[in-house]
Amino acid sequence: MPIFTPGRRWQPPYDPFKKVSLGKKLLASTEKMIKGPLFGCRMCGNCMLQETAYICPMECPKGVRNGPCGGSTEICCVDDKRPCIWYAIYDRSEKMGTSEKLLEVLPPLDWDKVGTETWGDVVRQVKKVGVRKVVKGLATRNVNERARTWDSIFRPVRQPVWWSGDSEYHAPKYTEPASELERRLRNGEFVVTAEVAPSLSPNTTKFLGNVESVRDYVTAVNFTDNASAMPRVSSWASAMLALQKHAEPVMQVTARDHTRLSVQSDVLGASALGIRNILCLSGDSPREGAQPMARLDILDIDSIQILWMLRRLRDEGKYLDGREIKQLPKYFLGAAGSPMTSEPRFQAIREHKKINAGAQFIQTNVVYDTDRLEIWFNELAKRNIIDKAYLLIGVMPIKSLKMAHKLAEVPGIVMPASIIKRMEAAGDGAEEEGIKIALEIIEHVRAKKAASGIHLMTVGWESIIPRIVTDAGLKRAPEEVRAVA
Ligand code: SF4
Ligand code: SF4
Repeated sequence: MPIFTPGRRWQPPYDPFKKVSLGKKLLASTEKMIKGPLFGCRMCGNCMLQETAYICPMECPKGVRNGPCGGSTEICCVDDKRPCIWYAIYDRSEKMGTSEKLLEVLPPLDWDKVGTETWGDVVRQVKKVGVRKVVKGLATRNVNERARTWDSIFRPVRQPVWWSGDSEYHAPKYTEPASELERRLRNGEFVVTAEVAPSLSPNTTKFLGNVESVRDYVTAVNFTDNASAMPRVSSWASAMLALQKHAEPVMQVTARDHTRLSVQSDVLGASALGIRNILCLSGDSPREGAQPMARLDILDIDSIQILWMLRRLRDEGKYLDGREIKQLPKYFLGAAGSPMTSEPRFQAIREHKKINAGAQFIQTNVVYDTDRLEIWFNELAKRNIIDKAYLLIGVMPIKSLKMAHKLAEVPGIVMPASIIKRMEAAGDGAEEEGIKIALEIIEHVRAKKAASGIHLMTVGWESIIPRIVTDAGLKRAPEEVRAVA
């Protein structure tokens, strides 16, 4: 076990800055000695092993504490020499019959506890419940009673009052649609959203040209938040520029670039500026981005925690710290979906958790394998969540054979061999073939009741969006194109 771990600011070299009693220090050392070799414990001080089939999730390099990221397979998408720890957790939970436990929205770290022991909290909780009651409850043959007793000890430890996470669906508490995107989705329209890459410099001429060229063809335009961990004009600034051009923005916030404080303030600021659609994501790892590499070890929050926090801020009027907000912010919350990663049934648990946490729409990663998309829809249907969030399926036209090969290597994308063959056979006509494939996928998606629309991602090829929307028969009549005020 490394000395320097996710909570290293509060670990041995810095201990003198924190007053900790000798008893607590001894307990922490004992816990580390036992849980270190057994679970690879990094002493996060906020233990959740009971929820994760006794596999420590703190090994995840993206710091997610609520399930796999969008690039997960059995192998970690950040470090291909390691297994995905969340795949292992889901797999073991399934074998133990505890998969449904994974739906509970778990809190971000209380950094004051990082590096300290968790056992003291457990002992205090046992005393609170009553030692005799606990012993009796755990010794009984009644399985439900045993589970209740267990939960009476561990639930208050892992779910502090300031978080109070659960496994339930919470319907939004407002009535009027927060945005044009939400209004159209509620109306049952098959919507199109599209991604426009934020500018690489303060010169926004090209960016604004792209926004204007797609504005009348789509309902809303997404602006990435430092995609591929490379710096660009921020998502909120891009969203604001789009609003000035009467295009409806979807502001993206990544867990990678935010803390619990900055995400609340950025979203409140966005709400004040009239930005109404917020998409919450984990974000690509800094390992894939600009070098020298940004820090990987301190991650404050994950995308599901962002959803939970923002939903409560809007619907319950509460900041994370419990203070009440005087005027409720307005926004329509979204999340990313990953039909092609890991096992669809595992991914469905993750999407279920996102919807429970607050996701009202889901924009998926790029889909080329429509058979697998079906499996994902079926898994969501089994969980009875299709009518709880609008599903917008990711479509990316392939510009060349080289691009097809590159996409085939991206974690979270499945590229069928048949598509590679078609691109090979197309030769000089590869671009046209790529557009044809995109149109076929759109047609397939349109025929599905489960899908509420498509999300076009063109990675710098924004000029193709009007053609695809028109050829797919999705262009709205001029009177339906309602400019955003
Ligand atoms: S969840 Fe935290 S306390 Fe529990 S084993 Fe992992 S690092 Fe240790
Ligand atoms: S694949 Fe994603 S969720 Fe799994 S360990 Fe790697 S970063 Fe974490």
